[in-house]
This record gives sequence, C-alpha cells and structure tokens, in this order.
Amino acid sequence: MVRKILKYPESVLRKISEPVDRVDDEVRALMADLVDTMRHVGGIGLAAPQIGVSMRVIVIEIREDETEDKEPQIIRLVNPEIVEARGTTRFEEGCLSIPGIKTNVRRSEVVVVSGLDEEGKEVRTEATGLLSIALQHEIDHLDGILFIDRVSSLKREFLLKRYRRHLLSQEQAL
Ligand code: ZN
Repeated sequence: MVRKILKYPESVLRKISEPVDRVDDEVRALMADLVDTMRHVGGIGLAAPQIGVSMRVIVIEIREDETEDKEPQIIRLVNPEIVEARGTTRFEEGCLSIPGIKTNVRRSEVVVVSGLDEEGKEVRTEATGLLSIALQHEIDHLDGILFIDRVSSLKREFLLKRYRRHLLSQEQAL
C-alpha cells in the first residue's frame, strides 16, 4: 500500500527509531508498504520513519541499466548497522522528505552493513557506489539524521530557505 511520505520538519523524522525484536508479518507488511511507496514516487530508498513508523526498517532499490532486463536489486533490511566504513566520497543527495533541494554530501566510500533480512536471517553486505550512499542515507534516517545535517550550517540555512520556497510554490500550485 502506498503511504504518505512525511516532510521535514515533521517530528518523527528527528526521532531515534526503535529496534525490531522479531521479523514477523507486521514487519514484512511494513516493508511491502515501504517498497510500494518508494516505487510510487520513483525513489531509490526509504526508511520507516519517513512514513511515520518509528522502527528500524529500510528499503533500497537500485535500478541497474534500465535498458537491460536485469531484475532490480532490492534490499529490505531490519536493524541495519554500519559495522565497517572506509574511504570518503561525495555525492549529490536529495531526500523524499525534503523535496526540491539537492546538495553534495560527504560519505564513506565503502560500508559493510549488517542486519536482518525479511526472513529474520542475519545478513552482511559490503557496498560501494550508489548502494553505499543509499545505505548511509537511510540508516541516518533511523537515527533522526537528515542529509542537510551533514553540510555546513551556512549551506544548511541556504538549502532550507530554498526548501521553504519550494513548499510555497507547491502550495500555490494546488
Ligand atoms: Zn531521505
């Protein structure tokens, strides 16, 4: 089911999400809603707090080459944790909860992430490139951290000004 994506400064986006005790049908239904919602808006990742659920669950879908018939790589993770991080990289990020703005964010280049899959089985993934960035961005959401927190305060002020203007123009368009 497609759910409503909450926008900054909604308070749940600033909360530290609760760890999941057991991966049951309720958690799997949450994962399905996250995937539906992410696909509906064409996003590459979504974290449970973005649909108002303060639980440590994320989904990521990286579309490889669109021209190929390859199955998209879809990741559903419960209680994800970065257990190792190497190198630094910069990537222009945006966020479905702060639409209308994008900025370069400094991230680790390679991350090793552990967590539970949709069956509750322990998994460990080493990621580079866009998947590494997406994992770091979505795991930040579970700790109430947004990508605008990872730039200078001056830059953040500028971005938030633009974001407010974007929201106003959206309102006027309705
Ligand atoms: Zn985001």
